[in-house]
Amino acid sequence: MIGAAAKSVAMAAALSSSCIFCQIARSSTSTTLLHQDDKVVAFQDINPSAFRHYLVIPVEHIPTVRDLKRSSEDFSLVSHMLNVGQGLLQRDAPHAKHYRYGFHQPPFNSVNHLHLHCFALPFIPRWKAIKYLSLGPFGGFIDAGKLLERIKPLSSI
Ligand SMILES: [Zn+2]
Ligand SMILES: [Zn+2]
Repeated sequence: MIGAAAKSVAMAAALSSSCIFCQIARSSTSTTLLHQDDKVVAFQDINPSAFRHYLVIPVEHIPTVRDLKRSSEDFSLVSHMLNVGQGLLQRDAPHAKHYRYGFHQPPFNSVNHLHLHCFALPFIPRWKAIKYLSLGPFGGFIDAGKLLERIKPLSSI
């Protein structure tokens, strides 16, 4: 038991040291952080697809939406990510007509560290919208609200 736990801690450490988003979360890159607290950080997408395009990531290395469970812990983490993203876009793009918040699902995720895409639309150029289309049960992009429904604890006390 102890061996297995130690092994998984070692694996997580190895993963996180090679993960670019973990490095950003630990402020060990030159990336400007738009928001930072003990749970999440936010920064601009390096290759923005919209007027404003931010990413919000958990400090903890969680690979993908598939690794989130129906639990109050994961639910409150994702809610917090969404709140931070909404706050930033309301501050930086108060006049945008549309906002969009969501996650890529495997195998369409580019970086294996959970990240919430936050857009103040329109997409620039417009064809970029295709990267963020929902492809239903087969994957693609999932809106943050949909994901929250999926992981919402069944009985909240
Ligand atoms: Zn990571
Ligand atoms: Zn992505």
